[in-house]
Amino acid sequence: MERVESNKLHQEALSHLVGGVNSPVRAFKSVHGDPIYFEHASGAIVTDVDGNEFVDFVQSWGPLIHGHAHPEILQNVYEKMQKGTSFGAPHLGEIELAKHVKNRFSHMDMVRFVSSGTEAVMSAIRLARGYTEREILVKFDGCYHGHVDSLMVNAGSGMATFGIASSPGIPRDIAGTTLIAPLGDKDAIEYLFRQHGGEIAAIVIEPLPANNGLLVQDHHFLQYLRETCDEHGSMLIFDEVISGFRFKDGSYGDMCGVTPDISALGKVIGGGLPVGAYGARKEIMENLSPLGPVYQAGTLSGNPLAMAAGSKTLDLLDEEAYDYLEYLGSQLEKEVTTVLEKHGNPMRLVRLGSLFWLSPGSGEPPVRADQIPKNAGELYADVHHGLLEMGYMLAPSAYEIGFLSTAHKEHHISGMSHALDQVLARLEVGT
Ligand SMILES: *Cc1c(COP(=O)(O)O)cnc(C)c1O
Repeated sequence: MERVESNKLHQEALSHLVGGVNSPVRAFKSVHGDPIYFEHASGAIVTDVDGNEFVDFVQSWGPLIHGHAHPEILQNVYEKMQKGTSFGAPHLGEIELAKHVKNRFSHMDMVRFVSSGTEAVMSAIRLARGYTEREILVKFDGCYHGHVDSLMVNAGSGMATFGIASSPGIPRDIAGTTLIAPLGDKDAIEYLFRQHGGEIAAIVIEPLPANNGLLVQDHHFLQYLRETCDEHGSMLIFDEVISGFRFKDGSYGDMCGVTPDISALGKVIGGGLPVGAYGARKEIMENLSPLGPVYQAGTLSGNPLAMAAGSKTLDLLDEEAYDYLEYLGSQLEKEVTTVLEKHGNPMRLVRLGSLFWLSPGSGEPPVRADQIPKNAGELYADVHHGLLEMGYMLAPSAYEIGFLSTAHKEHHISGMSHALDQVLARLEVGT
């Protein structure tokens, strides 16, 4: 597969953009490749600047649940665009999207729109800290919440302790307001609350951790977090930026029977335009300015084009759409698992609805970050490269999940399974 034009543009970009990209994982570093420059995309297919076509299982990292350039979403954005691209003032589109969100997240009385998932989580924790008048957060090793300073922390010398910044540029004092626990570990939570209970503003968790593989949590653990927060007057924040709107039965919290205090949303909610949101019951949301003292604002918040893309995306997510996504997901699971078994299970497929993770290693899927094999990236890089050469695009990192959209067809999935079979066979001959 020729990538002459892509490589040319990448070389040029290197002198203008850091690493040639505006978000690090796009650089293909962890699969030892160079980024591919897209020219256009439609449905499940992306076309690069050299004219190569790929079946896309990345879908802009989650937002495009109806695939690329869905005609009805484009039409809705186009119609709104004629009337102005940004008002900096209220408009009907915000009410429409808020109603959609409240329909799906029954604990929300009010919603605030922002422009990214990062912003949604960042604002949700400010609200929780403001409401509880406490400062400490609890987060889990292996959960990603965007590049929020207080949540860009790793476990230090041991788990269940204060975190250390995972990036330069984050003041030690800020990293030191966050406690880290392993996923699924009730004892660690109990210990942290025994030590710091009265100072903990919130527990923040992806109820379905999906940014470090897909680490499916036991419902009882989420229930335990709810009880612990209630007991200590702390808030439970569910970061559903990636899992929100992915399931027919509602939010992932709903599916587990656990109601958080605040939910943060992003990705699907904007249908491919920049939208994030957070919401909670009235008594909590009333603390936000202009009603209350907790400040949060945005020049482009509630942008009419973004609201239009989001509303149409959610309109189109009817029962039939969810059933189709589940149907595709089960096909993928069946076919890929058969291929993996044939090759002695070098990887496992973890799948929930339209989200999947091709996880290097065998046996029970990991549920905690430290259960993911350290060399997971090695086999994945070869598999990723092999599939790409055959026209199938998976995320360029072993720790990122794949996404199905309503634009995918059965033959895209069987084509990918078949290609995977060939790639694994070739890798076996090579070793
Ligand atoms: C993607 C993601 C974020 C960050 O959202 P951005 O729009 O990239 O800022 C936060 N939390 C979760 C769970 C995510 O998947």
